[in-house]
Amino acid sequence: MALLKVEGLGKSYTSDKKILKNINLEINPGEFVSIIGPSGAGKSTFLRCINRMVEFNEGKITFNQQDVGSLNKRELRRMRTNIGMVFQHYNLVPRLTVIENVLHGRFGYKTTMQGILGRYTEEEKERAFELLEKLGIQEHAYKRCDQLSGGQQQRVGICRALIQEPKLVLCDEPIASLDPNSSKIIMDHLKAITTELGITCLVNLHQVDVAQNYSDRIIGLNQGEIVFEGASHQLSEEQ
Ligand code: ADP
Ligand code: ADP
Repeated sequence: MALLKVEGLGKSYTSDKKILKNINLEINPGEFVSIIGPSGAGKSTFLRCINRMVEFNEGKITFNQQDVGSLNKRELRRMRTNIGMVFQHYNLVPRLTVIENVLHGRFGYKTTMQGILGRYTEEEKERAFELLEKLGIQEHAYKRCDQLSGGQQQRVGICRALIQEPKLVLCDEPIASLDPNSSKIIMDHLKAITTELGITCLVNLHQVDVAQNYSDRIIGLNQGEIVFEGASHQLSEEQ
């Protein structure tokens, strides 16, 4: 059964322009799917509709057999613990340490800034260290995030998204601010760790070649509509 099902999704921010038009899509557990398309196509809006960071206007989204649109605040908060997010600009708290940022992902971003480490159990801290180790940044655990390179910060972003052991991770242009070398490191890690942990991955990208290298399936979005959907090799045959 699909982990995520999107039916007839439509979104407008203002009355005069539809940003997403009749999007239909199913994502199966364990899939690694990329969404490609030019800037302004609606990729970011689409990802944000899935966890209702953006409220959609039309259609239905079913995640993990729950009707996302009908959830109340409490149910939505609960659902979001099953959906990790990775952002283009990392969205870390710069003055906090790496380990604090990772642990922060566990309870959202509303905890106070004081004594963060003390709020977590040894087991939770161990889990955070395990993830940092898998991503090769454990030696930076007690550094402030703003002392790290972009690629290192994005690895922290991935750890933060995965600490809650989500079923799905949504990545919004995770490598758009990185050089090719760091981009490869991030994509390799993202692919390896989501495969290892059995986490479904939906990634916005604007580089077709990167999408082809890493994805099971590619979805092309243009002006709010799906214009292509298929396996990576099908895209190369058509172009
Ligand atoms: P992409 O991620 O493919 O670049 P976006 O989803 O960011 O596309 O943007 C699609 C369109 O929606 C753009 O025209 C953008 O300006 C518009 N848009 C995005 N967010 C908002 C918002 N909060 N309010 C109004 N328009 C928005
Ligand atoms: P990023 O590259 O960090 O994703 P974006 O340019 O996509 O930054 O958008 C930053 C914020 O501005 C987002 O919350 C987005 O929804 C909002 N935004 C984007 N385009 C518009 C727009 N045309 N009108 C209002 N808000 C917008």
